[in-house]
Amino acid sequence: MSPPAYPALSYELYPPRNAAAEDSLWTTIRRLEETRPDFVSVTYGAAGHNRDAAFTLLRRLLAETTLKPLAHLTCVGTSRDDLTAIIDRMIGGGVRGILALRGDAPEGDGPDPDGVEHADGLIRLIRDVEAGRTAQLAAGRISVGVAAYATRHPDSPNVEQDIEVLLAKEAAGADFAITQVFFQPADYSRLITRARRAGVTIPIIPGVMPLTSTRRLERLSSLAGVDVDDALWARLEGARTDGERRRVGVAATVELARAALDDGAPGLHLYTFNEHAAALDVLDALQLERPPEAGLAASL
Ligand code: FAD
Repeated sequence: MSPPAYPALSYELYPPRNAAAEDSLWTTIRRLEETRPDFVSVTYGAAGHNRDAAFTLLRRLLAETTLKPLAHLTCVGTSRDDLTAIIDRMIGGGVRGILALRGDAPEGDGPDPDGVEHADGLIRLIRDVEAGRTAQLAAGRISVGVAAYATRHPDSPNVEQDIEVLLAKEAAGADFAITQVFFQPADYSRLITRARRAGVTIPIIPGVMPLTSTRRLERLSSLAGVDVDDALWARLEGARTDGERRRVGVAATVELARAALDDGAPGLHLYTFNEHAAALDVLDALQLERPPEAGLAASL
């Protein structure tokens, strides 16, 4: 089997919260579409709080663009029956990739007693629903992705457990993983070394986020439980203008992405915050090869 001609490229988008945000997101989508990504992922609020907005965005991406959506799905706080219906609706609507996640329970909410506790259980449920739709899928498969962690997940006692869990996700039927944000090239290298040693074989795509303000760094840290990188923080704080801060954030992301690709990463997943400027700056600096404009079909 020959290696792929291009590193995979994908972007994360989140469903807009209002009409103004929707307009600005669609400007971003059209700019990102020009770079011919392999897929764009659409986040999903834990316990399904933004389910309608997520479905609207998925529907528009499928109907109005050339982009292939990867639908995030979280299982926390949702019954097995509801999850089954959501997966069925996604597949029935044309979604062919799902990122299977636990999510983080909103304050005061626990796991649903009739639900699925962890991402590995959600993968099995996706595979069950898929099995019932084999005819529609022309005996094909849904591509199932999962989260991986280059630094310890905040709920895990140690990184060894994170690797065991990644192995369990692959055993449950995951096809690939995307990492949580990380700041040091060595974090990704160590994850790959540990994962391969433990027997994980699926591709692990590094997730990188152009961080162009200390506010964003702070928010990321509180939402994802990722420790703030002190050196990046100091460089962002020392910048005198927004333009300089953007250059600092983009340069740090380019450095990280280049190191991961040099380390054999199969592609890049860019967390965009629904903004295209910094993501496109990162791509320009990396000069990542993309398929010809005529599309991949031209090489058939
Ligand atoms: P799990 O794999 O279930 O792991 C959670 C914890 O439980 C870990 O400590 C793990 O070690 C442990 N664990 C896992 N399986 C077992 C088991 N079988 N038995 C015992 N312990 C176990 N969140 C959202 O709400 N919406 C999103 O759209 C979203 N997108 C994301 C995209 C990416 C690429 C990433 C990396 C994260 C995303 N998240 C999202 C955040 C994610 O939901 C959180 O990181 C969450 O805390 C864990 O999700 P998980 O799927 O890794 O959970």
